[in-house]
Amino acid sequence: MKKMATMLAAVAMFGLAGKAMAAAPADTLAEVKKKGVLVAGVKDSLPPFGYIDEKSRQIVGYDIDFVNAIARKLGVKVELKPVTSASRMPQLQEGHIDIIAATMTKNPERAKQIDFSHTYFFTGQKFIARKGTVKKVSDLEGKKIGTAKGSTSEQNVRRAIVTANVISFDDYPQAFLALQQGKVQAITTDEAILAGILAKAPNKSQFEIPAVQISDEPYGLGMRKGDKNFVDFVNRTLLEMEKSGETKKIFNKWFGPSTQFHLKRNFALTAD
Ligand code: GLU
Repeated sequence: MKKMATMLAAVAMFGLAGKAMAAAPADTLAEVKKKGVLVAGVKDSLPPFGYIDEKSRQIVGYDIDFVNAIARKLGVKVELKPVTSASRMPQLQEGHIDIIAATMTKNPERAKQIDFSHTYFFTGQKFIARKGTVKKVSDLEGKKIGTAKGSTSEQNVRRAIVTANVISFDDYPQAFLALQQGKVQAITTDEAILAGILAKAPNKSQFEIPAVQISDEPYGLGMRKGDKNFVDFVNRTLLEMEKSGETKKIFNKWFGPSTQFHLKRNFALTAD
């Protein structure tokens, strides 16, 4: 009987130690160097942030170029894992990915659960609707609006248009399909994502992005909470890339004058 009690106590202690180990702050920087690969959670259907290139069949885009630059600095390979807006934080917290580079807005609510890098992209939330149907926010009252589950877009639109019937899809291409089929009257997310969707649409002349913005959306790379060495490394790398002009080069490659977006970079990457 005494032996049994000792054994139970040992099991309980072992269990506690196991828990304490799991809760210890991660040192992703050391782990990534050791395993020789940086595993990044990225979007795979949102040009120009993360999408499958038709020729190479590889995932490419603005987000991917940041991951590649960080991995190059670390001297490791990259593995890209597609995530959705809803799955990206659990994937990171459960250790399936080391970093999120997936059109992710940094905000105080999310920052309670994960850490964010300095802002590496800046956009704002808008809509796609059939041409001429939306001139101001109130034109969307009581309408069906498509967006993605687990996104700030979903939260913002519910707040901005309380009478709207918000329908959430796994990702934005599915929401746009619903718009094309007349199942929703508009879709909503960040303007840069909407522009990418519209650019690829065969019937794009029927749709537009009205000048109606309901939020600002600064993007950050997501890392595990308290993973200080890694967060510091990523932020240092981003600031170096800004100084050398690499961040601007990446912006122009995906959004600049030689692309269909013709965007000017209206932000600088700074320590924040
Ligand atoms: N940037 C917004 C967010 O983080 C919308 C885009 C997305 O769903 O990734 O939720």
